[in-house]
Amino acid sequence: MDKFELKVSGALEHIIHLPDSAQYNVLLRSTFSLVPSTEELPRPLAFVQPTSVADVQLVTQWAQKEKLPLCVRVGGHDSLRRSTLGGTVVIDLTALNEIEILLDEHSGATSDGLKPAGTAKIGGGTLTGNLLAALKAQGCMVPTAAAESVGHAGWAMLGGYSCMSGVLGMGVDQIVGATLVTANGDVVTVSESKNPDLLWGVRGGGGNFGIVVELEIKIYKIEKFLAGGLVFDSQDISSTVTNFLTAYSNLQSSPEMPAGFYGLIGVVNIPKLGKTLVFTYVWLSEDRTGETAWREKMKSLGGVKCIMDAVTEVDACQLVANMSKVAPYGVYGMFKSVNVSGDALRHEDFLKIAVQNIDQMPGLPGCALTIQQYRPPVTSNVESQAVWGPREPHHMLLLIGTSPDEHHPRLQESIDWVDNFEASLRDIILAKSYSPFSFKIDLGSGEEKFRSLKEKWDPEGMWSNAIPGI
Ligand SMILES: Cc1cc2nc3c(=O)[nH]c(=O)nc-3n(C[C@H](O)[C@H](O)[C@H](O)COP(=O)(O)OP(=O)(O)OC[C@H]3O[C@@H](n4cnc5c(N)ncnc54)[C@H](O)[C@@H]3O)c2cc1C
Repeated sequence: MDKFELKVSGALEHIIHLPDSAQYNVLLRSTFSLVPSTEELPRPLAFVQPTSVADVQLVTQWAQKEKLPLCVRVGGHDSLRRSTLGGTVVIDLTALNEIEILLDEHSGATSDGLKPAGTAKIGGGTLTGNLLAALKAQGCMVPTAAAESVGHAGWAMLGGYSCMSGVLGMGVDQIVGATLVTANGDVVTVSESKNPDLLWGVRGGGGNFGIVVELEIKIYKIEKFLAGGLVFDSQDISSTVTNFLTAYSNLQSSPEMPAGFYGLIGVVNIPKLGKTLVFTYVWLSEDRTGETAWREKMKSLGGVKCIMDAVTEVDACQLVANMSKVAPYGVYGMFKSVNVSGDALRHEDFLKIAVQNIDQMPGLPGCALTIQQYRPPVTSNVESQAVWGPREPHHMLLLIGTSPDEHHPRLQESIDWVDNFEASLRDIILAKSYSPFSFKIDLGSGEEKFRSLKEKWDPEGMWSNAIPGI
């Protein structure tokens, strides 16, 4: 379809990039997950880069009138490339990146920072790295994705696991309000008191009801905390994994788990060391009583010896910058995510499958397994406040088989490894999985309400490409 067929005129001409433009080709390949040059890339009809809410309204009304399918993109991290679909008009929101920090003197936040100290209103196109830098300037932080280039709204609205979520809660539970441009181009605000049903839907349903031009999130007064990797002796990776996971799983269910502590398990390929178990240790609380003893306990958990302790005082910007190095932008290959039950890590059937698959993991830096625990928040009622699930205790496993080199001779082996690992977990995975890495999503008991909201706010299916799809 060319410019004439797309019927572009007026203000739209200044923000649209059609297939014959240089910017179109730049935007086409600006996604985290790339497609080998041997494959034909699905080609959107056009990219649009709005710079204001009025621009977003204009594009939406135009697309509705012309009956054009839409896609919304910010960080371009959807690993299944669902934010750059062929045959759609892709709305790139990255210019909507304003951040307003609203500290609340009466918030009752304590010096340990674990209670919100106010909120931030962020543009729907704000990236993680920019958000953390703005908050740092005010001595604050929020839980975020593990990479600076992830769109914060896309991360938070679709669930939002982070290495702080066991302490501060999931990304979805930080959302207190939003402003949407709906299918007919109206601007609608949502909060606990205004359109609360829509707030429930945005918390897990993301862009299913409109383009989120602004999100209001809780913020925390935490400047510095302790975080970093504990690297474990993995010469015998099978027994290291078995012993550590069993002991960690037992610890997770014990009352001695400190409130300000959380962690992320990873099995990664480290040059010279090979397959190695790394535990990303986070102690968020300013109260460090007992921290040294706790870390020592972690360093010999399950009788596995820690060979490097890189835990140090950091701010959230530094932590995420370090984690971003592990996942540089632009890779080829496969990501998949599955959830297993909260106590799976100590079960023999799970351990057997995990160990077998880790044994077969290709020795490439882009291949890894990460395991993140979902710990239900102390505050009750979250289940009824969001369509996002699952809320039962679980672990989110991320199976990563990638390479920055599209011609790497072992790339296909890495992709097959992810597929086979997922298939071997078939009998023990939970029905509910994580939407950013899954095609099929089970909304459980929220499905009926979600569908009726969809009918009310998106009767013509303008946002049918949103994630999760139903
Ligand atoms: C390297 C990497 C690291 C990651 N780290 C984590 C992590 O630590 N924890 C975690 O939970 N997840 C993580 N993810 C998953 C990531 O959070 C999701 O894929 C998220 O949706 C990405 O948002 P994005 O804007 O970057 O991606 P995009 O591909 O641009 O957007 C994904 C989808 O989100 C929706 N969307 C985004 N913004 C808006 C908006 N403002 N309005 C309406 N719809 C919108 C759209 O449907 C869009 O198709 C990671 C992914 C990668 C590739």
